This record gives sequence, structure tokens and C-alpha cells, in this order.
Amino acid sequence: MTQKKCLATVLVVGETIDGRLSAGTGDLGRQARQLAGRFKAEPVGVLTGHDIEPVARFWSKTAGMPVIILDHVQCRYPNPHLSASGVGALAVECSPLAVCFPHNLRACQAAASLAWRIKAPCITAVDAFLEENGQWVLSRAVFGGKLNETVSTVNTPMVLTVMPGLFSRSPSPDLPDHSPSVQTRLLTGTDHRFIPQGVDRREHTDQALERAQVIVAAGRGLKGPEHASLVKAAAGMFKHAAVGASRGACDLGWLPHSLQIGETGRTVSPALYLACGISGAPQHLAGIRESRTVVAVNTDPKAAINNLAHYAVTEDLTVFLPVLRERYDQMKEKGDAV
Ligand SMILES: Cc1cc2nc3c(=O)[nH]c(=O)nc-3n(C[C@H](O)[C@H](O)[C@H](O)COP(=O)(O)OP(=O)(O)OC[C@H]3O[C@@H](n4cnc5c(N)ncnc54)[C@H](O)[C@@H]3O)c2cc1C
Repeated sequence: MTQKKCLATVLVVGETIDGRLSAGTGDLGRQARQLAGRFKAEPVGVLTGHDIEPVARFWSKTAGMPVIILDHVQCRYPNPHLSASGVGALAVECSPLAVCFPHNLRACQAAASLAWRIKAPCITAVDAFLEENGQWVLSRAVFGGKLNETVSTVNTPMVLTVMPGLFSRSPSPDLPDHSPSVQTRLLTGTDHRFIPQGVDRREHTDQALERAQVIVAAGRGLKGPEHASLVKAAAGMFKHAAVGASRGACDLGWLPHSLQIGETGRTVSPALYLACGISGAPQHLAGIRESRTVVAVNTDPKAAINNLAHYAVTEDLTVFLPVLRERYDQMKEKGDAV
């Protein structure tokens, strides 16, 4: 590896899976310039994979930043150990102010390992930058989303894992007209501890959730599968509507796993997201941040979902949803419902 000084001071680390950008990497790229801007720095992308120049050029172009490929045959699938060692060498070389990963299990592993290597603080699941006394502090949800913690650190570099949708989806106004700039570095060494065998791709042939304008989603507050009909009836009030679910409701078998929304489920962006009996764990919120309006129905006024919701209905869903449907049916009879 050459000892060339990097111009940029924030490293934005993405991953590829069998030659494709992972979902979190695409999102992180969209946020890269705003992220680096918080540090008054320029972003440099770092992409791990094998034979990924076309995809790196695409990431460089869309994110408006130069990209360094860390290439290794064992990085065809994400490999946190090799990633931490390659990014660690770059961090020593570039002295970045921050190294940012997308927030997922693999990246958390790489981030923690990197932080240990370069003796940096590691702050996971960052969901906002807040300004306090002219300084940026980082915010993250803890205790399953029940508390928000703010973290400030003067130590650099800091290693962050960043939740999706931290900044608005609109392209940042200062995105320069950027021709892709890609440089490849070959990683050496072999990792015998972590050998992915392949990818089990389960494509969703049903894109109803991604296309839906309205999503009525149910969580463990549903209390049982017998109440799933209430959620379906509520969805039936709208055109282009679909039913979604939290992992809590899916794990209990009340709704199919294919409807799970969140970090390990599907990412949605409807005009209206009606969350019924969902607490608002960070992993669920990760999948709904792009929703235009969020309405939460929850018996607990302090539920974390209410921090994100535009409207909070503090009520038992088995009371609220039938009343909502009844009012709709009455309006429909009068010809008032659309
Ligand atoms: C690595 C990892 C990945 C994960 N990925 C996901 C993911 O992709 N998606 C996801 O959803 N979760 C995910 N989770 C799980 C997540 O942490 C939460 O456990 C889960 O979202 C909780 O589901 P819930 O909100 O339905 O249940 P709970 O947290 O149990 O919340 C139930 C809510 O219902 C309310 N309630 C109770 N009764 C009523 C009633 N009668 N009427 C109205 N409200 C009522 C309660 O006040 C409570 O707020 C993941 C977790 C991990 C560790």
C-alpha cells in the first residue's frame, strides 16, 4: 500500500454482496456528503468486494465522492475481519475525523473490530446529529428505543454505524458534478475464521409493500392473530394500501414474515404509515423513516414510536380500529368517502 496522503477526512465504508451494493451502502452513499459536512470534511468512499469496479464507479458518481476499492477474493461476500483490517490501514494513512459504516450486524462487527485496532471510540446506531452549544452531538436510541442518548466525543477518529435515512432523501444541494473516481487496493492475507458460503436470495415477487401509498402495520399490541382482520379491514379503506408487520408480530406467527418491515425486513416509503401496537424499536424505525406521515396507535403514550409519529393515538387498537372502520363505512354510505 502506498503512503499517499488522502485529501478527505471522513471515510464512508460500504460493502458489496456478490458484486452488488448492499441496501445500507446505497443509503449511506446518499448521505455521505451531508455526513462529512457535519465534520466540515470531504467524504471518501471505501468499498469492499471482489471485481467490483463498475459498481464502485456507480457509487462514486451517485454519492459524489472518490471511492477506494478494497479488493479481496474473500470479500465477494461481506467479511468484517478483512474489512476492519483494510479500513484500519487506510485510517492510519489518512487520519480521518470519522469512519462511518451503515448500521447492520456485519458492519457493527467490522466497526467494533476497527475501533479496537485504531483505539477509537465506537458509537453504533447513530440516528441524528443534534446541535448543542454550537457543537454537533450524536443521538442514538437505547433500551429498545425507550430512551434517546446523546453522545459527544472529542476523540478522533470516531467510528460510527449510521442508521438509514439520517438525512432527507433529496439530493444534497452541494452535490458537485462529479465524474466517478475509483482507485483499487488489493487486500492481502486470508481469513480462516469467517468464510461465507453464499447468499440465499429470496426475491420478493410481491412488491405491494414497496409500492403502497398507505401501509397499516401491526405489532405485538395486536395480542393475537384473531385481530389481524382489524388491520386488514383498516387497510381496505384506502386505495393502493397494504398490510405490514413488526418482527414481533411475525415471530409470533400472527402475520407472515414476508410482511416484516425494518432493518431485517423491508424498507417502505408510503404517504401514510399507520403503526398499530408497535413500540418503535430502532430496528423497526429503520424501515419506515422515509414515510411521509406516520400515525401511531398505542396504549402507551410514552412508546418510542410516538417520537417519530406525526400523530399519536393513545388507545387500544381493538377499540380504535373498529371505530375508524365504522366511521369510514358511514361516510361511504353517504358518498363522502374517497
Ligand atoms: C438484529 C435485530 C434485527 C431486528 N430487525 C427487526 C425488523 O426488521 N423489524 C422489526 O419490527 N423488528 C426488528 N427487530 C426486533 C425489534 O428490536 C423489536 O423487538 C420489535 O420491533 C418489537 O415488535 P413490536 O413493536 O411489535 O413489539 P413490542 O416491542 O412488544 O411492542 C408492542 C407495543 O404495543 C403496544 N400495545 C400493547 N397492547 C396494545 C393495544 N391493545 N393497543 C395498542 N397498542 C398496544 C405496547 O404499548 C407496545 O408499545 C430486530 C431486532 C434485532 C436484535
